[in-house]
Amino acid sequence: MSNHVEMGNALFMSYYIFITLLISQYENVKFMRFLNNDFHCFSIRLCGTISIEVILMKKVALIFTGGTIAMKVNSKLQGAVPSVTPSELISTLAEVTEFDNLEPYEFSKLPSPSITPEKMYELKKIVDNYLEHDDYAGVVIVHGTDTLEETAFYLDIVSTHKKPVVITGSMKNASDLGYDGLTNLVSSIKVVMEPHSMQKGVLVVMNYTINAACEVTKTHTLNLDTFKSFDFGPIGIIDDEDVIYFREQTQRKAYKLKNKYNESTFLLKIYAGMTGELIDYYVKQGAKGIVLEALGRGNVPSVMMDAIRDARRKGVEIVIVSRCIGGRVLDSYGYIGGGKDLVNAGCILGGNLSGPKARLLLMTAMENGLKHEDLIDIFTM
Ligand code: ASP
Repeated sequence: MSNHVEMGNALFMSYYIFITLLISQYENVKFMRFLNNDFHCFSIRLCGTISIEVILMKKVALIFTGGTIAMKVNSKLQGAVPSVTPSELISTLAEVTEFDNLEPYEFSKLPSPSITPEKMYELKKIVDNYLEHDDYAGVVIVHGTDTLEETAFYLDIVSTHKKPVVITGSMKNASDLGYDGLTNLVSSIKVVMEPHSMQKGVLVVMNYTINAACEVTKTHTLNLDTFKSFDFGPIGIIDDEDVIYFREQTQRKAYKLKNKYNESTFLLKIYAGMTGELIDYYVKQGAKGIVLEALGRGNVPSVMMDAIRDARRKGVEIVIVSRCIGGRVLDSYGYIGGGKDLVNAGCILGGNLSGPKARLLLMTAMENGLKHEDLIDIFTM
């Protein structure tokens, strides 16, 4: 039996340090349960059975890429523009919370319409640098909401770590009444520090909900509750101090693709009366892959089939997804331009991935050297 002395919290080199003498094996077990993610620990044996456990609170890296969350209205332009720095956001956060373990990193100040696959590739390298260090519990990425789901999905398909990676933003800018930036940041930090957030892939945290990167999409131009996993619902919520998970992701595959990108994979949305002209154009531009956001169950106008067959003959990979917001594509129609005709022409069905996500997966998988049969496999849900 050993003594127990609570030495309290002390800030040392940006860590919280709790020095505790453990009373019993039972308490020791309780401690070890939360050491995995929030804390790391080393022990100093004093004498006999008396030891000191030094528990260091792990840090959370906040990587800022830009977005409305870091914007204010410029009176001359009469529009929101980047104007809040990461340190300003963190000091505002410090006024309303007690987090002392945050480490900001300014990656960019970009509105998310200007985020590119190259930026995602660079971001992945920064995320990895943090995750590889034992003193970080995980990473929060701050991002504009317009392309947030694309960066989230890209990071998910190239994900190699168990630690939580959360991506968040805000719908209102810092000049707006009801600015949601701080709430979303606080929720995201809580999710990273929750031990059950390990091994869940990249998570999107907004408006008190947790969604999986592979399932979620922005559904509304204005609402704070804009991120929805349309066919599935959120995987969890943040309720005050509790982070609660309801279910596992249904869609997630551990793709484990290497961090690579190219600029020659394209996305076309199909509409009534569309012809094959744009497909011909992209093939001439040297496209390696094209995703078609097709109609309904995965069908295109019959007049597009010549261009599609020609693209396939030239080795261009074509993935079919649906422009519907819910449901999978399937080769259920046999007419010219129907799903069966597309599959017979060598197109790949992309399950219920959205067009932008299917494009990122096709781009990355091809850059990883995957050939046609492997691509079919990776897109099969
Ligand atoms: N247009 C903004 C962006 O994506 C929207 C946002 O951040 O909510 O950067």
